[in-house]
Amino acid sequence: MQKRNFIMKTRRILSVLLIVTALFSTSCGSKSDNSAPKKAKNVIVMIGDGMGPAQVYSLILTSQEQTAFERFPYSGFSITKSASNEITDSAAGGSAIANGTKTNNGVVGMDPDSIPVPSMLEIFAEQGKKTGVVVTCSVTHATPADFIAHNITRKDNEGIALEISEKTGLDVLFGGGKKYFTERKDSLDLLGKMWENGWNIYDSLSQIEDNNAKTMVLACRRHMVKAPERGDFLPDATAKAIEMLDNENGFFLMVEGSQIDFACHDNDSTTLVEEMRDFNKALNVVLDFAEKDGNTLVVVTADHETGGLTIVDPQGKYTRTDFKWTTGSHSAVFVPVFSYGPGAENFSGVMDNTVIINKIMDVAK
Ligand code: MG
Ligand code: ZN
Repeated sequence: MQKRNFIMKTRRILSVLLIVTALFSTSCGSKSDNSAPKKAKNVIVMIGDGMGPAQVYSLILTSQEQTAFERFPYSGFSITKSASNEITDSAAGGSAIANGTKTNNGVVGMDPDSIPVPSMLEIFAEQGKKTGVVVTCSVTHATPADFIAHNITRKDNEGIALEISEKTGLDVLFGGGKKYFTERKDSLDLLGKMWENGWNIYDSLSQIEDNNAKTMVLACRRHMVKAPERGDFLPDATAKAIEMLDNENGFFLMVEGSQIDFACHDNDSTTLVEEMRDFNKALNVVLDFAEKDGNTLVVVTADHETGGLTIVDPQGKYTRTDFKWTTGSHSAVFVPVFSYGPGAENFSGVMDNTVIINKIMDVAK
């Protein structure tokens, strides 16, 4: 009898303990639910066109100092295949990053049925954020076009220029490609029309006077010259864009290391390293701002790898490193994703390129 009482008492004590534990864990749970994760006011997406793991490693091997890539607390891998091909091109690869939908190679900002899909730049503009794009290629080229245009083919540079000239919700556009605005088959004066619509348009960053006006810099007829001949255009343009876009409602900026891809198509190892150095400078500009700001999510990735680059000792003796290129085209390998700032932890692991936009939208405010 006594023994039974003892057991019942023990059971009662145990159940009280369980309830107390449950209460505590609920209150702890609800407490952490209330302290919502930090949101990002600003979002900066940086795309190294053609930048696979070996391209990043080529910079690390040739740098005396720590590279910007080593400043990111989180990293992951992105799956880049397109709707039509296991090996994507920049149009479909960038489109998936920009709007979260796989499309066919060659298509810009549309799904495989040619229905336009809004890009994150357009969604952020709709939400009242300032937006900008900085590249070293023509502003009508596939990657920038994925964020600011919708066209069934990346080859339609003049059509994409026309769309840009009529675009609302874009505040800053720096790159090349003037000829598609001024030397057109339809003879339209797109730049004249844009000036009338309130745009300031210049040939160089140094001509910018009004930080608050919508501003386009077209620094050359088509693509800019390669690094290091073009100087610090990319890091300087990135710094200027941030200065012009930063405002209380936040901003979205896309910065592209456009010509990493060009160097890799040419299997030009020396230029690849120069292009990576240039992109690295732009990354440091962005990270320095994000560190100071504290409200900026930075996501760096690539649309695909170019050149099938690997770095080996041809004799297999571990004594030297040679760059070995296996194609003049793109390849189907993982590309890296690096992230910094509020929500950066969501970008680790293996992810499809189409989920990057969701992860960004989840943390943006
Ligand atoms: Mg590109
Ligand atoms: Zn390419």
